[in-house]
Amino acid sequence: MNIILLGPPGAGKGTQAKRLEESKKLIQLSTGDMLREAVANGTEYGKKAKDIMEAGGLVSDDIVLSIVSERLDQDDIKGGFILDGIPRNVAQAETLDTMLAEKNLPLDAVVELVVDDEALVERITGRYTCAKCGQGYHDKFEQPAREGVCDKCGSTEFKRRADDNAETVRSRLKVYHEQTEPLVGYYGSKGILKKVDGMADIDDVTSQIGEALA
Ligand code: ADP
Ligand code: ZN
Repeated sequence: MNIILLGPPGAGKGTQAKRLEESKKLIQLSTGDMLREAVANGTEYGKKAKDIMEAGGLVSDDIVLSIVSERLDQDDIKGGFILDGIPRNVAQAETLDTMLAEKNLPLDAVVELVVDDEALVERITGRYTCAKCGQGYHDKFEQPAREGVCDKCGSTEFKRRADDNAETVRSRLKVYHEQTEPLVGYYGSKGILKKVDGMADIDDVTSQIGEALA
């Protein structure tokens, strides 16, 4: 099963993608993670992306689509994947459609996580991840069972994203509403859009997604 998780920053895409990896054995392809890795490794794409990302802007369609295209050529995604962070605008969606058709990887569903803007600011400013395995946590909504120790891998190191501050969040939300939200209509008209109430508890959202994909 190949799906897209659609929703504003902080909607819970990463959180739900991690759960789908376990329950459905899908592979999460997060463009944010792939780009941050490129920046950390100082690759050619990474150098181009760094400043734009820190200012909360969108990295050029060409860079993101090239990174995703290369990733989709690896064999491990054959059992199904979750795209998280792409497409961000209608032009990317159109290119992605062509790319997926050429690679013979049809989309089964696009799951939209619907969340109020006010809730997003709180979610984003409180989130952090395990530095070793990438498991996501939140100061208020999802703490590890043992304080300071990752539930999944036991690491005691965590990190916060440079762009997860209140000012940047507002510009990221503006960009989302202007450029990404039109994708709801785009995939709706293709008949593959599933809407999920992302304001519900994390477990509840997981079961709604399970029903939507059943
Ligand atoms: P995205 O990948 O869409 O940007 P995340 O999955 O990183 O969003 O979620 C943002 C933060 O909000 C995380 O810290 C996560 O633990 C928390 N979170 C995710 N889903 C919910 C939810 N349904 N209720 C409360 N907090 C949530
Ligand atoms: Zn971990």
